[in-house]
Amino acid sequence: MSVQEFDTIVVGGGVAGLTATVYLARAGKKVLLLEKNGECGGLVNTFNRDGFYFDAGVRALLDAGIIHTMLKDLKIKLDVVKSPVSVGIESEILNIRDIESLAEYSDLLKKFYPGSKSEIDEVVRIIRKIMKHMDVLYGIENPIFKDLKRDPGFVLMKILPWFPRFLLTVRKISRMIVPVEEYLKSVVSDASLRDIISQHFFKNTPSFFALSYFSLYLDYFYPVGGVGSLAEALRHKILDFGGEIRNEKTIIGLFPADNLVVDDQNTSYKYNKLIWAADLKRLYTMTKTDNLPSAVRIEIEETKAKILSNRGGDSVFSLFLEVNEPPASFGKIAHGHFFYTPSRQGMGETHRQELDELLARFSEAGKEEILSWLDRFTRLNTYEISIPALKDPEMAPPGKTGVIISLLAEYDLFKKVEETGWLDEFTRELEDRMLKVISGSVYPILKDKIIARFSFTPLSIARRVDSSEGGLTGWAFREQMPVINKIQKANRAVLTPIPSVYQAGQWTYSPGGVPMSILTGKLAADRIVKK
Ligand SMILES: Cc1cc2nc3c(=O)[nH]c(=O)nc-3n(C[C@H](O)[C@H](O)[C@H](O)COP(=O)(O)OP(=O)(O)OC[C@H]3O[C@@H](n4cnc5c(N)ncnc54)[C@H](O)[C@@H]3O)c2cc1C
Repeated sequence: MSVQEFDTIVVGGGVAGLTATVYLARAGKKVLLLEKNGECGGLVNTFNRDGFYFDAGVRALLDAGIIHTMLKDLKIKLDVVKSPVSVGIESEILNIRDIESLAEYSDLLKKFYPGSKSEIDEVVRIIRKIMKHMDVLYGIENPIFKDLKRDPGFVLMKILPWFPRFLLTVRKISRMIVPVEEYLKSVVSDASLRDIISQHFFKNTPSFFALSYFSLYLDYFYPVGGVGSLAEALRHKILDFGGEIRNEKTIIGLFPADNLVVDDQNTSYKYNKLIWAADLKRLYTMTKTDNLPSAVRIEIEETKAKILSNRGGDSVFSLFLEVNEPPASFGKIAHGHFFYTPSRQGMGETHRQELDELLARFSEAGKEEILSWLDRFTRLNTYEISIPALKDPEMAPPGKTGVIISLLAEYDLFKKVEETGWLDEFTRELEDRMLKVISGSVYPILKDKIIARFSFTPLSIARRVDSSEGGLTGWAFREQMPVINKIQKANRAVLTPIPSVYQAGQWTYSPGGVPMSILTGKLAADRIVKK
């Protein structure tokens, strides 16, 4: 068995691992990034099928004061365009332009729920308040990505006046961590209206995070060539700085007493420091604690128990369509990033209690019952629709359009369907229903124009990036999170009890997502560079 030696090894080439690696390489460390797939990027990925480019994971990026600041710091020039958002209910569609669109959103809701006018005003008032908090949180270039010693002007003019406001804001938002479903009950009495405002968020999303989304809609941008261009740009920069990347290497064992990791081809890599930028359940199940001091072993076992008893958050089902219709036809209807709800009724308990009950007696429930649940699930849900060619015209062959239609989806449902042997049929049934709903409502132009279609289930996501329960942004929201979930403590999120091992990415801070994955990647690299 061969052993190769590095200052630092980074496991996992998603945005978190790429960020950590690029900063270590820039600092002159001998760094190796090991990635299980043939390409880097993880859930920030764009692929080509039949000349159509699709984003497999995240559909557009939120800057959050982080991404552009990092790109500037690394001197990466990434061509980007704005990624404007539309929201729609039944036949009413609102193209969001700026902060003033919030008033139009309010009118839209009032049209559907005329009996709830004053409650809608209250929701909008809360959203406006949160938007102000977001301005504080994301309103400056994130100092973690700035060379503060060389930029005293930034410290004096920006950070010093900002910091007290930041602390105050953090205090205010920490009072809004109750799940959005619960929080809205105290403001809105109409259950359908509550659903329409919140049903496209993950289960139990903290209310601050969910209600901040209106301001986040204004922050989305799209790299030319797809979101995967960001991962590609980071990959190139790593190589420019002399870092090394090896793809198709899956790490299957970690031996901290010997500072060794082993991959699926039986190659061992020795490290001084290691950054784990992938799923934490996997990290703890493959870590061998033999020969470590007993106090360390106990701490690792305790953390492992906490990690393994938690679940990944909601996953997603995505339907990809190659359509024989030019992008302009879709552009007349809505922007290229669109949250659409075909029915004002709202999902009620369809995706929560009803599904839980169905899963609990899955073996007795017949296909018919499951498909009838699927009917309601697809009719009452909120869809995220992304049309890459409306953001960058080169993303589809001339005169044609690629469309991605997705829904939040429960991993366990797909797992049980697979175990009972009808995953392909179930997937087809789900695709058919999604198409029927969307072509029967907002995009009649889809009828008879689809050249090809395919889909990714939560199981596909779990297998491709090895994420627990197909989670997209790390952990499910529970009362006790297994990782840090307070922004003022983010710096500690990268620490693990495993000697010389740091963690980064969506599993290390909650709520996760692209900006926090990047931030924790940088924080982990900083810890090592400073040492
Ligand atoms: C449909 C969709 C929509 C989304 N929308 C948003 C959004 O609007 N806003 C937002 O902020 N986020 C969004 N996200 C989430 C966001 O994309 C992810 O949270 C983020 O990209 C995670 O980055 P990461 O590097 O932490 O993890 P990942 O991207 O999961 O990267 C982990 C990497 O590690 C590799 N790996 C795993 N195990 C091993 C191993 N044993 N050995 C070697 N390599 C390994 C994987 O192959 C992968 O490349 C969305 C995701 C999806 C799928």
